[in-house]
Amino acid sequence: MRLIWPLNCAGCGECDVHLCKKCEEVIKTPTLRLVVDKDCNYPIYAAFSYTAAIRRIMLAFKDGGRFDMLAYIRYAVRKMTSNLLTLNELKFENIGCVPAPSSFSSLKRRQMLQTGHLASAIVSQLRAEHVDAIELDILKQHTKKKQVNYSGEQRSKNKSGSVQLKISKAMTLSSQQRTRNIILVDDIITTGSTTRECIRVLENAGFRVLCVIVLCTTGS
Ligand SMILES: [Zn+2]
Repeated sequence: MRLIWPLNCAGCGECDVHLCKKCEEVIKTPTLRLVVDKDCNYPIYAAFSYTAAIRRIMLAFKDGGRFDMLAYIRYAVRKMTSNLLTLNELKFENIGCVPAPSSFSSLKRRQMLQTGHLASAIVSQLRAEHVDAIELDILKQHTKKKQVNYSGEQRSKNKSGSVQLKISKAMTLSSQQRTRNIILVDDIITTGSTTRECIRVLENAGFRVLCVIVLCTTGS
């Protein structure tokens, strides 16, 4: 008998399970898509299409307090990384995984940087497959204006300057760390404007960006 909190599948709502068999199968089988964004010069690899089950699991994890989804999501990210290595898409040594930043209010609300968990899962898998990799948490978000009620184009414009380098952290990087090949890691890409802004900041700081790894994109 469950007295305190009813447990439901984060993907479909089925009672008394963290994830039902069907939704577990979905999250454990990343489909790996190459997303084409004409404004982004780098390949964007998405683990999933934004299906109803994936959308619900992501939202439950991001905003619904379902930290029990973390292990499943880490599993998916590691599997995806392994697939990319098999496909020879990450054929680089000396990799730095940079989590896309969250706003201060999101960090406070969620009490975690989700993208940091994703970056650490990627690093774990790369190391397990003998690729030299570290996590580089060097970006922060600086929100100038509220993003609500803006069109995609306006959002894009407002993003300029919204991402900054964590100077104190970046300054302490060794020369070897500064020459790392960067994988930018995000959870969900909507318009892609934050992604492009992160890349711009990293490039301006002299980093070499390889690709973007994301759980899913909401666009086409
Ligand atoms: Zn389910």
